[in-house]
Amino acid sequence: GLFMNIAIILAGGVGSRMKMGSLPKQFIMINDKPIISHCLVTFNNNENIDGIVIVCSPEYRDFLSDWIGGGKLNIYKFMNFADPGENRQYSIINALDTLEERNPENIIIHDSARPLVSHELINKCLSTLENNKAVMPVLPAEDTFYYSEHGTHVDSLLKRSTLFRGQAPEAFNYESYLKANRSLTHEELLAINGSSEVAVKCGIDVALIDGDKRNFKITTADDLDLFKTLCDK
Ligand code: C5P
Repeated sequence: GLFMNIAIILAGGVGSRMKMGSLPKQFIMINDKPIISHCLVTFNNNENIDGIVIVCSPEYRDFLSDWIGGGKLNIYKFMNFADPGENRQYSIINALDTLEERNPENIIIHDSARPLVSHELINKCLSTLENNKAVMPVLPAEDTFYYSEHGTHVDSLLKRSTLFRGQAPEAFNYESYLKANRSLTHEELLAINGSSEVAVKCGIDVALIDGDKRNFKITTADDLDLFKTLCDK
């Protein structure tokens, strides 16, 4: 179809854990470019991506439009903005809603605060989606994890080889994923952290692929320092 694979870039968060003033992390300038520009260029230049929707508060749209436009990054696959929601999952739902008329085959959801996503990872997500309705890149758990209900004592043990850290981008069949989101209650959606949780809750099988350590999410000031160091290299 005309709109096969649409990327949803999440930039609606406020970066409350960064403690770096009021500018959300994805708009912080590193080497004269906002952090979000890295993933936008990668998705725009990926041959399997047909369009891009960006979740972004109206407050930052002029700033972003200036970068997206011809003179600077030329993100010519940009289609439209969507409004941020109450949490990450509601931001995704707002983006899904803007796509209803176009009815794309697949969507691939990425965090704007993960600047180092590779073409290889995007392509692997989409090729795995050919035989699945949901795909998530993961990293194996390297630390040992303990289950503690209250965070004061260990309640039970977890088998490390069965634990994985979810990354983005996560890819879904659009129709199935939209339906899954619409079937959950407000309370359930507010409790969602990762986009694949919705699929799991609705009985959609989520295929796992190998994630990429470089594709980390900038969350804290330490992450930002690491990204700066990598950019300088
Ligand atoms: O808060 P967290 O780091 O998990 O956010 C992951 C991504 O989701 C970020 O890129 C952030 O901008 C986005 N987000 C959003 N809308 C929200 C909350 C987070 O688009 N309401």
